[in-house]
Formats: sequence, structure tokens, C-alpha cells
Amino acid sequence: MFSLEATEKGGGNRSSSSSAQAILPARARGTGDGCRPHRTELYHEVPPTCWPIVYSPDYNITFMGLEKLHPFDAGKWGKVINFLKEEKLIADDLIVQAREATEEDLLVVHTRRYLNKLKWSFVVATITEIPPVLFLPNFLVQRKVLKPLRTQTGGTIMAGKLAIDRGWAINVGGGFHHCSSDKGGGFCAYADITLAIKFLFERVEGVSKATIIDLDAHQGNGHERDFMDDHRVYIMDVYNRYIYPGDGFAKRAIKRKVELDWGTEDTEYLQKVQTHVEGALNESRPDIIIYNAGTDILDGDPLGGLAISPQGIVKRDEAVFRAARSHRIPILMVTSGGYQKRTARIIADSILNLHNLGLIDKELATSEAKNPKVELMIRESILDLTKLSLQ
Ligand SMILES: [Zn+2]
Repeated sequence: MFSLEATEKGGGNRSSSSSAQAILPARARGTGDGCRPHRTELYHEVPPTCWPIVYSPDYNITFMGLEKLHPFDAGKWGKVINFLKEEKLIADDLIVQAREATEEDLLVVHTRRYLNKLKWSFVVATITEIPPVLFLPNFLVQRKVLKPLRTQTGGTIMAGKLAIDRGWAINVGGGFHHCSSDKGGGFCAYADITLAIKFLFERVEGVSKATIIDLDAHQGNGHERDFMDDHRVYIMDVYNRYIYPGDGFAKRAIKRKVELDWGTEDTEYLQKVQTHVEGALNESRPDIIIYNAGTDILDGDPLGGLAISPQGIVKRDEAVFRAARSHRIPILMVTSGGYQKRTARIIADSILNLHNLGLIDKELATSEAKNPKVELMIRESILDLTKLSLQ
């Protein structure tokens, strides 16, 4: 097992092993003060036999029926995994076990002041929108509510590195796009998308530009506030213009903004997604895509207010993965919002569809190649040489 250590990064003290090469930092920690990234357990080596699908049973919030007091299906993530197992796509030992993000991991983005505020149950009750949390002692809030969210956050960070190594990765949870470095909200207590990008910028050579494609029904004001003045990150956001959060300040960070009306249906939606994903990738040419694949765009969702069919969601995910593949950019998908009982089945169907189409293929997943872009370049130059010799 290879785990990142401060001594192996930065300061010219580079290891010669090829597995280490892939995760050496391009630069010291973004502050420019020259300090090295901290030691983390989230960038450990993953066996090549594993799918780059990240999950842990710890994702699911179950405690004295607490989860039933929120419109959120707090067991959605486990159900997705069960469907994928039933379809024989995956097995327990073939998926990547998510690890909980530590306080030091979270401090890469969050302020200590914000993390300290989460030690107050009433703050967590407000952020998660589960009022009874207010009456729980904080040690239970930490264990039963925040630990699952921290594990999903660790999962997104891990999936960031896996996406670079394998060409794609899916965190079955995560996508807390309303949380920024110093403010949570809308069920989002940790800024997992910002964290995954900052980890990559700090630790992975060759990753200096990211594009966020946020297709959850809500505006992603958390990552928008975090990357407001950061030109390395290009944000495309497609959302219902009339619902939470309506964050006018955060909208200034969006490079490609697509605001939808109540009840938008498949044809208009898919056409807009396809056009703007293509436009965004042509404009930004990133080293990684972070795809926030919220399913609260589904018809009948009480919070999303849009009218997309299950098949429309499957087609949407397909369009984004196709664009990533045709531009040869690694993609990290997180599942984000989506609160109905049928949501888990739709997410599983979408992953199966991506697999059936070869957009997430086992061959690349188990490839020894550390960087799919390099592998593709090699394949293409071999093809070119073959053509030349035939002429
Ligand atoms: Zn949402």
C-alpha cells in the first residue's frame, strides 16, 4: 500500500517509483508559503482489480428513525450499491472503500472556525434541515450525522485521484454543492467538491485546471463561492432559477449559466445540457471534470420543480460521459441531491447504461496505465505509425 507522506512530496525530494509519480504535487500548498501538503490516508494505492467506484456502508444515516424526518432518502447510497450487486456489475471486494476525511483533510478548505461551529447541535440541525438534531448531544450528532457526511467527503476526494489514474471514477455519495469553506446549508456540511479539486491541485502533477459541470436541480453556490476568483476552475451550472439557494453573489463565479423554468422537460433539457457541456469543454480544456449528477431534476421531486423522466436522467449522464470521453478528459461523478424512493434505481440504471455503452469500461478500469490521457496518446501514435507504414 502506498500512502502519501509529507516527506515524499515537494522540496525536490521526489520518489522514482511510477506509482508515486502520479501523485506528486505540482506545487506546494496553494497559500504560496511553501509548506508541504499534510499526510493523508485518502490518496492510498488502490488495487488495479477494483472498479473506481467509491462507497462505504458508513454513508447511510440511520438512527432512531431520524432519517425519516427529512425528505432525504438517507439510505439511497446503499440501495444503489445493492442494485449494482444484483446486476452482477460489482461485488464488495471490487469497489473502493471510502475513508472518513480527517480534521486535517477538511482544513485544506474549511476554516477551523467553521469546523468548531459543527460542535453545536443547533448549527448541524440548521445545516442538515433535520430539526430534532437540535436536541441530540453533539457526540451523537458527530457519530450519526456528521461521520456519514465526512465519509462521503473522503469518498469524493479519493475518487478525484482515481479519476486521474483510471480515466473515470464515481463516488456513490457526495456532491455537497451548497457548502463553502466557512458556511454549510441545504443538507451540505462539508465542501467535498472544493476539497477534491484542491487535493488534486496540490498533490497531482499535471492537474492545474478543473471544470465543474453541476447538473443538480439547485444552484451550486458552495463551490461557486469557494472558486469565485480562481481562474483554474471553470464552472457550468444548470438549475431551476426559482428555487433554493438563489445566491446572486455566487452566480458571479459561473462561467456558463443555464437557468431553467418550472417543469422543464426532457427534450429541452437534454438539448441544453448537450450544447453547453460541449461548449464548456471547448472553452475550458480542463485536466479533470467534476460532474455533480444530482437526480432531483426528476419529475415529481418536491424540491427540484423540474420534470425530467428517469430515461432523461440516464441520457443526461450518458451525454456528459460521452463528452468527457470524446475530449479525453478524466471525469469524477458524484451523486448529490435526489430525494425520491425511485432515485437509487435510476442512479444504478444510469451506471449500468454507462457500462453497457463502454463509457465506463473494465479494461481501462483495470489498466496498469496511471494516466489515461498518456495511454490514449500512445495508442493514437501507434495507430498513426501503422497508417504511415501502410502508405
Ligand atoms: Zn439539489
